[in-house]
Amino acid sequence: MPYPDEYLASLVDFLGASPTSYHAAEAMAAALRAAGFTQLDERLPWDEQETRAFVVRDGAVAAWVAPRIWDETTGLRVFACHTDSPGLKLKPSGPFERAGYPLANVEVYGGPILHTWFDRELAVAGRVVGLDGVERLVRTEAIAIVPDLAVHLDRSQRDGLAIDAQRDLMPVFTLENGRTIEEHVWRRVGLDADAVGGYDLFLVPAQGPAVFGTDGDFLASARLDNLASVHSGLTAILRAERTNDLQFLVAFDHEEIGSQTLTGASGSLLDDVLVRLSDARSWSPDRHTAWLRRGWCLSADVTHAVHPNRPDRHDPVAWPRLNGGPVLKWSAAMRYATDAASTAVWRRACRAAGVPSQVFVNNNDVPGGSSLGPLSSTRSGLRTVDAGIAVWAMHSIRETCGVHDPAMLSQVASEFLAGA
Ligand code: ZN
Repeated sequence: MPYPDEYLASLVDFLGASPTSYHAAEAMAAALRAAGFTQLDERLPWDEQETRAFVVRDGAVAAWVAPRIWDETTGLRVFACHTDSPGLKLKPSGPFERAGYPLANVEVYGGPILHTWFDRELAVAGRVVGLDGVERLVRTEAIAIVPDLAVHLDRSQRDGLAIDAQRDLMPVFTLENGRTIEEHVWRRVGLDADAVGGYDLFLVPAQGPAVFGTDGDFLASARLDNLASVHSGLTAILRAERTNDLQFLVAFDHEEIGSQTLTGASGSLLDDVLVRLSDARSWSPDRHTAWLRRGWCLSADVTHAVHPNRPDRHDPVAWPRLNGGPVLKWSAAMRYATDAASTAVWRRACRAAGVPSQVFVNNNDVPGGSSLGPLSSTRSGLRTVDAGIAVWAMHSIRETCGVHDPAMLSQVASEFLAGA
């Protein structure tokens, strides 16, 4: 089915180019460079005076557009999101065989819906670092599968599926004994096994995104959580004009495993860059803190559209719909950072964009999820709103969203960054 608009076509390209956080960071860097952003090296002194610049820290990216003037009226608008998605990660454990089959030994990364990972052609993607210290991104063709067990071999499946993550999830990739999936990857990156230092490699679905529905309403893809939000923020920062605020995009890694990492929302990336930007203007710590207190953060991550077969799992009133516009996320327990003041900022941005917005709240008997908003807000002191587009089957190997919501979120992101 053809894409209804240019925006969706560009999102589909980005999803396809980004099987892992490392690839997403590379795709973002390429787009930023092409739009005239200068890449800075975190290992060098900056004395930063760029109008448009960015840094890449492994699978995370920070990009910004400078304000017209830096003074005590300068504001700060941060669009925050994450580049990683749940899945299966290769353990650095060496050869593994069972029942005469060489297998890949994987550990579950984050919280995927495990049963969706069976019977899919899988590729290997991620990064390999040589002993020379050079990082190489890699992505194979479809080479593996986790075969499901036939119903005839376990009739109890009908009573509920119990998946043992060490027993049941090991992908098979060849019938040739003595092979390892790693060897195949080393060949792809052109390294001898003894030249490999380390790796972060994932099994990822080989199937690409697709638009479907009798009226073309739906987009199905892996990693809509959260590349749909990353793409909205990226397109917004790329077209941003200078204003009175620093406009800032930060795409963290590792949200799906708790964000407590060097490149996660609880790490130092956002603080490090903001401190260096104010240092370059010789601002005191006092001036820096005052600047942060004038700032706002929009933490964008996908949320749950009301499920067609299980509306009972949702709040009885708040039913986000696909293509109904981006969704504000609220929780009394502050598992989302949204509060009255940040809700007002969100509504102003939606109104300025001419985009409808919806609300997500949990059913009181369903614990629900969280996002990076509360973590980055707690660390940085930035007032924050959590929002995102609605999807079905969050953390499935194939999630579904509406074809119009991502572009609407991008419009809201633009208005938010511009200071609406
Ligand atoms: Zn997410």
